[in-house]
Amino acid sequence: MNTNWNFENSYLTLPKIFYSNTQPENFKNLKVILKNKSLLEFLNIEESKFETLLINSMNNKNINYFSQAYAGHQFGYFTILGDGRATLLGEHINKKNQRFDIQLKGSGKTPYSRNGDGKGTLKSMIREYIISEAMHNLNISTTRSLAILKTGEKIFRTSFEQGGILVRVAKSHIRVGTFQLASLSKEKKDVEDLLEYSIKRLYPDISKNNDRYLKFFEKIAESQINLIVEWQRIGFIHGVMNTDNMSISGETIDYGPCAFMDEYNPNKKFSSIDHNGRYAFNNQPRIAFWNLARLAETFLHLIDENQDKAIKKIEKILKLYEKKYHELWMSMMRDKININNFNKNDENLIKELLDLMHVFKMDYTNTFCDIENNVIQKHDFMKGWYEKLKERRKLNNNKKTINKNINPKIVPRNHIVEKVLNEVEKGEYNNLDSFIINLKSPYKNDKPNEFVREPNEEEKVHETFCGT
Ligand code: AMP
Ligand code: MG
Repeated sequence: MNTNWNFENSYLTLPKIFYSNTQPENFKNLKVILKNKSLLEFLNIEESKFETLLINSMNNKNINYFSQAYAGHQFGYFTILGDGRATLLGEHINKKNQRFDIQLKGSGKTPYSRNGDGKGTLKSMIREYIISEAMHNLNISTTRSLAILKTGEKIFRTSFEQGGILVRVAKSHIRVGTFQLASLSKEKKDVEDLLEYSIKRLYPDISKNNDRYLKFFEKIAESQINLIVEWQRIGFIHGVMNTDNMSISGETIDYGPCAFMDEYNPNKKFSSIDHNGRYAFNNQPRIAFWNLARLAETFLHLIDENQDKAIKKIEKILKLYEKKYHELWMSMMRDKININNFNKNDENLIKELLDLMHVFKMDYTNTFCDIENNVIQKHDFMKGWYEKLKERRKLNNNKKTINKNINPKIVPRNHIVEKVLNEVEKGEYNNLDSFIINLKSPYKNDKPNEFVREPNEEEKVHETFCGT
């Protein structure tokens, strides 16, 4: 185990338009209140020395901190953005030679802060910690959370709240929006430099290909469809799928007003700012493709000198991946109800199930657990469908064993997350700790009822906020 970082900031080899040198604010009373032991181990950082290392590095004027510049379509409208409240401490390389951005979120103003204060509330930072780590344990690609710091100061949102910093770990923070920024540059080479850099860093296996830019696009399309199928599997609604919140590493990034569905509704949205349901549950795949098209636009001219040919090549990939998305989604849904092989009626069976779940407002997580446990027929309105499922299962190829890591028994339900965060604000950490422990093994059946039961009417959370 190391007592120091192993930083090597490759991102700083990019042209200056992609970042600014910044520094975390000098907070006087920093304290680590949550740390991720297994992630520290994975990064080869000594746990007992971590708090000192982190706080010292935040106050070390010799470190080359930086914030990243990017642009993005926010709810369809193009804007210039950047890390308004995040500073990159550095790119840490672990003993397996894997490179990770270590980023401080909520560490103070940067040149990209616009009118914001560059801070985060302790509650919203812990919210990201809980949910991103839950996603990781659900086997879904995501940025990780290494630690939470209390800044010791109060910041004003709708009232005064404690300030917090999240130490976030990512394969990279390059977004579709980073490419959109590059494409605005007068220097034509900026897009090319960003492409070459991204390929070398994230998809090195294609770096020697002559058609690597097209392959790069294909890789990202593939990683995005895999990701969205996974979100749909567990009922996750990201809430702000703006192009600046879509990482080209295929990691789920920027947990804002995200939420897990309780009762199933394909049009479900939680975010208070998503008035038209642009980022509603069933729109997520469509938006991913919209974002992919925005990415392709930034380097079309490098795919083929002939624009028409370039567009055709991109369209071909988008069409192919739309088809692949559907196949992957079907295969995931088959797994969820424990049927396998292909049967032409499966789609109807699955659609009928989802319609019933919608009409009868059934809980997304628990319904699939009931199907898995063959107790779904406890509801009279599910008896007919269950008979059809039993018939269909007779066609199963028994070689395939049940996929045990498909239907989570626990997800971070909104009402529990809120309850736990409100307790933390009062200085009570017991439920937070036990919630995090239970979320570590989401496919195990040993969960306390209070964490897995459906919320009653008063407990239901109907709206989530960016909560910056
Ligand atoms: P998000 O929707 O969280 O991805 O944020 C959108 C943009 O707003 C990003 O550029 C953030 O860096 C910026 N931002 C969010 N909160 C703050 C804040 N408190 N101060 C400054 N910038 C912020
Ligand atoms: Mg963002």
